[in-house]
Amino acid sequence: MIVEGAIVDADGPRAAYVRFQGERVAEVGKIGTDSTHGSERRIRGIVIPPPVNGHIHLGDAVSTREPPTGPLERLVKPPDGWKFTLLRSATASAKRRAIAAAVARMGREGIAAAIDFREEGEEGLRLLRRATRGSRVRIVALGRPLERPILPEEVERVLELSDGIGLSSAREESHGDRARIGTACKKARKLFGMHASENVREDPDVYLDPRPDLLVHLTEATDADLEQVARAGVTVAVCPRSNALFGRRPRLSALERIGVPTVLGTDNVMFHAPSIWRELEFAYVSNRLAGERVSPEFLVRAACVTPWNLLGEPEQARVQADGPSRPIVVRLPPDDPAYQLVGRATEHLIVRPASAKGGKGPG
Ligand SMILES: [Zn+2]
Repeated sequence: MIVEGAIVDADGPRAAYVRFQGERVAEVGKIGTDSTHGSERRIRGIVIPPPVNGHIHLGDAVSTREPPTGPLERLVKPPDGWKFTLLRSATASAKRRAIAAAVARMGREGIAAAIDFREEGEEGLRLLRRATRGSRVRIVALGRPLERPILPEEVERVLELSDGIGLSSAREESHGDRARIGTACKKARKLFGMHASENVREDPDVYLDPRPDLLVHLTEATDADLEQVARAGVTVAVCPRSNALFGRRPRLSALERIGVPTVLGTDNVMFHAPSIWRELEFAYVSNRLAGERVSPEFLVRAACVTPWNLLGEPEQARVQADGPSRPIVVRLPPDDPAYQLVGRATEHLIVRPASAKGGKGPG
């Protein structure tokens, strides 16, 4: 199959054709120069590296009701927030089914990986692994040890089951505990992440010590804070729909202007469908609504490029012949392709090259 149109990847948007063999990229080049002389089926579309959901809490997928209004802390703060009371009351099998359904949906939407913050300690991680076994979406699970002060043995066990550790927030942890967790993650070569500056501004000197790999939200961070985060080379995950539900907005145009590596996430599954396409559109239009502008290119990078850098696999974010990436195709007009992706993409327009029928066709 040949896709004629555009590529948007780590090297930015450009007009191109891509020839697929199965799900592999066999050729990339200028439109009209492919080697098949019209013998292969061709379609118009935009080729992108597979998107990653940069921040999600799959564990709370079991609840799908409208959340009560009120302060966010009352809803999601461990251990007695509405969310945690609800998690305790749900059975393991109900949670497992809900997680599996959310992951299946991400798979249908073309998501290749999701970075999950898993609460509930070792048991929570085991449940997540059981629920997502065999899924085509890779789950990057950041677990959370439960004992405080932390027990090194528990941290070790959590790290064995996980891809790293994701804390609720720096404010809720002592410096000693964060330092021990940060060191353990580094030693295990796994990710260390936490939420920060979500409801109130926190001091970057605190949440950057020890240096995490990933900070989530930073809605209340100032320009100076973001500059400090950028200098530290820390990636920031933003979740515009989840923030909006509680009257907040990530500072996307500032993140872009300052050059903070940014990834896009859908946050709590209990609040929103884990759809990166809905997140992209909302991220873009909510900024325009607020009288600001974040570029579509920046947002597409946040969904399809920057997360692969965070995961240490930058080649996944490049559409090139014989590369490791397994790109997806979105059947949209290739003009101004990044804007098409943020403004018009839905799961219905996705073509997976491997499952597309071969042979000549009108496309
Ligand atoms: Zn979160």
